[in-house]
Amino acid sequence: MAIDLVSRAAWGARAPRGAYSTLSSTLGVKVHYTGGRVDPAIVNDHAKCVAMVKSIQNFHMDGNGWMDIGYSMVCCPHRKVFVGRGPRHLPAANGAGLNSGHYAVLGLVGNAGLVQPNDDLLHGIRDAIEYLRQNGGAGTQIKGHRDGYSTDCPGDALYAWVKKGAPRPGGADPVPDPERHPEWPGRLLRYPPVMRGDDVRAWQAQMDKRGWTIDVDGAYGPASKQVCQDFQRQQKLEVDGVVGKVTWDAAFEAPIP
Ligand SMILES: [Zn+2]
Ligand SMILES: [Zn+2]
Repeated sequence: MAIDLVSRAAWGARAPRGAYSTLSSTLGVKVHYTGGRVDPAIVNDHAKCVAMVKSIQNFHMDGNGWMDIGYSMVCCPHRKVFVGRGPRHLPAANGAGLNSGHYAVLGLVGNAGLVQPNDDLLHGIRDAIEYLRQNGGAGTQIKGHRDGYSTDCPGDALYAWVKKGAPRPGGADPVPDPERHPEWPGRLLRYPPVMRGDDVRAWQAQMDKRGWTIDVDGAYGPASKQVCQDFQRQQKLEVDGVVGKVTWDAAFEAPIP
């Protein structure tokens, strides 16, 4: 499927305040999220996506004093890709000194409300990345805003996807791959008290990938325990809410029902 571009005229962009600094190429792309609340109603109403992009541009131009919206491109949950500054133009959203290295692509999810990117949003970001490679000399790197800059952007959900190489949903590399999944860390993940660590995060990310609603925050609390119990029930394992080796391996190896 070809990229579904929303031109600046189509989304009613304001003209940039001056000429863009140009880029002939970049190392790649950095992925961003809004950092604030995104109204979940945008999923059912693309007009709300348009309004949101316009308000981001207004904030960047009137609040930050930038010459234009700071992003190269913006992707919405309808697999549409808004042209921000576009290819070959220096973005502003990556942070001082980091803009010539990577184009900036925003996905319309936030840290509240709409937090989880849907498949169309991920496809849209992937479409934008490929477009910037073909039209803007973007290199192969796909990184998050937080790489090299102090921010939680692009949020845990998008960042987990970026770390996997930003694969297209439903593409190669689906769940069962018993050869390569991370080893059970050797400690029982349980609550209470809240347990924290990269092993917790890895398990949460895997459960998220399997379709469970779970925060990938590296903290095993009551919500993670609940997901664990529901998963164990689904898989007909002992339902104790504790991630031991059997539950860990099932998370990575069991087919998704
Ligand atoms: Zn960002
Ligand atoms: Zn939309």
